[in-house]
Amino acid sequence: MSNPKQALIVVDVQNDFCPGGTLAVPQADEVIEPLNRQIDHFLERGAPVYKSRDWHIPKTKHFAAYGGSWPEHCIQNTKGAEFHPALRDDPRITVISKGEGDTDGYSAFDHTDLASQLHQQGVEEVVVGGLATDYCVKHTVLDALKHGFKVKALEDAMRAVELQPGDGDRAIDEMRAAGAEIVSPH
Ligand SMILES: [Zn+2]
Repeated sequence: MSNPKQALIVVDVQNDFCPGGTLAVPQADEVIEPLNRQIDHFLERGAPVYKSRDWHIPKTKHFAAYGGSWPEHCIQNTKGAEFHPALRDDPRITVISKGEGDTDGYSAFDHTDLASQLHQQGVEEVVVGGLATDYCVKHTVLDALKHGFKVKALEDAMRAVELQPGDGDRAIDEMRAAGAEIVSPH
């Protein structure tokens, strides 16, 4: 019996979501080390690795100033939109840009070709971690399940915004209830 072909999806580990950023997620930088280990592990065995990034235009309805919920963050071609410098970089990693229009674009599958890329590569299962548990990670996991992929969500390699206390735990419960396997390697 062979294991399902896996891909790794690293969600939005960008400067603006990390300490010092405009929309910093508490303890966001703690995801970097476990994610780097996963990236190395996937690349070593030739498995596909994707990094999603929030890639917003300066005036989008996603931002509070234009009717949305959030402070300005991850504006295209700014320092804040760059991946955290400690996150592993490698030419074999595919970058998926999302949130380029007037929608929130929380999910790495929303208005991107990620699902077709995964299908083309014969991927059956995705392993997901990153920022933030209660928004972009959750929506990416739920969309992956809707697209028919099995999902392992890396609990140790995600952190939550927690606008309301408990949002992170509720997001984990929601992912599990939808069919994701919540895993903590090590
Ligand atoms: Zn955003």
